[in-house]
Amino acid sequence: MKRFRILMALFVILLISGLVFAVSEKGNEALQKLMDGNKRFVDGTFAQKDLGKAKREELAKGQTPFAIVLTCSDSRVPPELLFDQGLGDVFVVRVAGNVVDPIALGSIEYGAEHLGSPLLVILGHSKCGAVKATLEAKGKPEGNIGAIIKKIMPAADVAKKKGGTQDEILETAIKQNVKNVYADIMKNSKIVSHLVGEGKLTIATAEYDITTGKVEMIEMPKAAPAKAKH
Ligand SMILES: [Zn+2]
Repeated sequence: MKRFRILMALFVILLISGLVFAVSEKGNEALQKLMDGNKRFVDGTFAQKDLGKAKREELAKGQTPFAIVLTCSDSRVPPELLFDQGLGDVFVVRVAGNVVDPIALGSIEYGAEHLGSPLLVILGHSKCGAVKATLEAKGKPEGNIGAIIKKIMPAADVAKKKGGTQDEILETAIKQNVKNVYADIMKNSKIVSHLVGEGKLTIATAEYDITTGKVEMIEMPKAAPAKAKH
């Protein structure tokens, strides 16, 4: 009887780990789909897209985007094009410097919880004007731009401390900003951190090179994300 119970417990553990595997697998599959699309974009071998009336009518009934992309408003960084995806595929949140405030977080939460996207990509990009402006900021910026600069400033400080040429400092700041945004999301969105903890949402951090067209992953520290400090 005791052996039976141990076997049952083992079975349950295997079942649970199997389920968790299956769930996080969805996020990995979604990421692969985006990276395959980016390869097509770089190679100039775009997939055939259904942009017709029937597709629009089908999507009018509801959307199930397989990924959420948070990226910069920069006109050279359109996620649907650089990942070569079609209508209804990607739920996009765009703001200069790809930073988050409660409204951007709410949009991400909507995509993850209500639409059930298994993947969130935080995508910074080379030569980002918002990051560059933050590095060069002096005094109080005009209008509402200051709110964006304030968000990027901690990354700019890290990059300046690390030093290097102007281009190197900008590149460090761009990558650091993506890492900071990741920590910001995990800290300030209980919904997102909960979904990540449950294995229902995968978060990937990446940088898009506006010259080569390539998206490259940004390495993240292995520490527990919810407690990550920057
Ligand atoms: Zn930018």
